Amino acid sequence: MTRPPYLFAPPEPVSLPIRGSNMRYPIRRIFCVGRNYHAHAIEMGNPVDKATMEPFYFLKDASSAVESGATVAYPPGTRNYQFELELVVAIGAAGFRVSEADAEGLIYGYCAGLDMTRRDLQFKARDQGRPWDLGKNFEHAAVFTEIVPRANPGVLAAGAISLQVNGETRQCSDLSKMIWSIPELLADLSKFYHLAPGDLILTGTPEGVGPVLPGDRIDGHIEGVGTLELHIGAADGA
Ligand code: MN
Repeated sequence: MTRPPYLFAPPEPVSLPIRGSNMRYPIRRIFCVGRNYHAHAIEMGNPVDKATMEPFYFLKDASSAVESGATVAYPPGTRNYQFELELVVAIGAAGFRVSEADAEGLIYGYCAGLDMTRRDLQFKARDQGRPWDLGKNFEHAAVFTEIVPRANPGVLAAGAISLQVNGETRQCSDLSKMIWSIPELLADLSKFYHLAPGDLILTGTPEGVGPVLPGDRIDGHIEGVGTLELHIGAADGA
């Protein structure tokens, strides 16, 4: 029995280039870790005590992803549109309730990513105890470089992470300052989800987040992973 035709053409999967390959990496889900660098948690007003707290997560739609180099419109509904540069783990094998020791086997590779945020809407939701979607999950809210297949061994534990706006350094830290390591994050997240190929995990941003305006240019760099570029266009509908 053949299925009835679709009412309209389903969207193409959103995908990213893979360094050294002519294949592309199709995105399934985009997970984001909330607070994973102490200095950023403090600048957000919520210090983290790893001994008593657990990581937390939110998601962005796969359709919100855009590739590095793009120009995106300044998004609607905000007056405080901010950047967060993050290391991104690209999952390449299925895993559920994986141990920290086995977590490396789930990793296909890495890329650099921007968790673009309507900070005013995020804080309004946070302060009212409401979901973060308006602040975090909107069109073009996730920006990614090409995927770099992991080395062997493949857990990234250190490396410089930095971001410039119009050439001025705004974020400058090191992956070694993550509160929860990549194996700890994968073990924890896989308690709640069946991780699968195509899942991307943004591992949190260091301190220095801030706003951008139409005409601004963002450059990000993660040592050993990649270099990212985003241009902010005129306000959507302007
Ligand atoms: Mn973030």
